[in-house]
Amino acid sequence: ADAAVFLDANESPVAPLASLPGLNRYPAPQPPEVLQRLAHLYRVKPENLLLGRGADDAIDALVRTFCEANRDAIMICPPTYGVYAVAAQIQGAEIVEVPLLAQPGFALDVDGVREAWRASVKLVFLCSPNNPTGNLLSRQAVLRLCAALDERALLVVDEAYVEFASENSLAPELARFPNLVLLRTLSKAWALAGARCGVAVAAPEIIELMQRERAPYPVSTRAMDDVLSVLRREGSIALEERVRTILEERQRMA
Ligand SMILES: *Cc1c(COP(=O)(O)O)cnc(C)c1O
Repeated sequence: ADAAVFLDANESPVAPLASLPGLNRYPAPQPPEVLQRLAHLYRVKPENLLLGRGADDAIDALVRTFCEANRDAIMICPPTYGVYAVAAQIQGAEIVEVPLLAQPGFALDVDGVREAWRASVKLVFLCSPNNPTGNLLSRQAVLRLCAALDERALLVVDEAYVEFASENSLAPELARFPNLVLLRTLSKAWALAGARCGVAVAAPEIIELMQRERAPYPVSTRAMDDVLSVLRREGSIALEERVRTILEERQRMA
């Protein structure tokens, strides 16, 4: 990393513009300061994180890592976020659907998921708060399901909107549930959708497997510079204000 350039990677020895020093170099595959700051923010360790181009990239990495094409399957609970199914279709993984229970309030059908599970289902995707219905899934129900799926499937809880919720992330449960995976993103409450920055949060063993499937340099130097300038500043105060405004506007719209 001390070299001026890596000739074996055919980096250019000169920057493209004097105003863009260092952009001729490849970025760190997993930039350490971004990992550290996100780990601090999400109350986990850097080795619990796989950094990618948004949470969508993490969804894709999960399906490619854990689902063998034309053999394995994912489970989803519609109505929910569309990218789980898109990633499965691209990978050639089957999609098993266990709808949320419209009554009461789009709740998780724990028994339905347990009954529908079969050995080909490697990933169960839940979204809490759920897009598009907006409700949280019961923490107890999610953890009960996670325990039931231990050694059978990974339970992926997409927390893209957890900053807007009355409940905290499931991150403290990672130690107790080795098959739990969380998704976090800077695209929504952090207002950084254009930077493409999201993570999978899981046990180091799971992260290591996913590292083998990811693109060699998934995030761009400039995007990470922008992310760091937001995270280094009093980002969380601005975040709280933004979240409060959006929650108030939601109320008014309703
Ligand atoms: C927006 C969204 C994502 C993807 O976010 P990116 O980090 O921008 O890829 C993932 N899950 C849900 C539920 C979302 O609404």
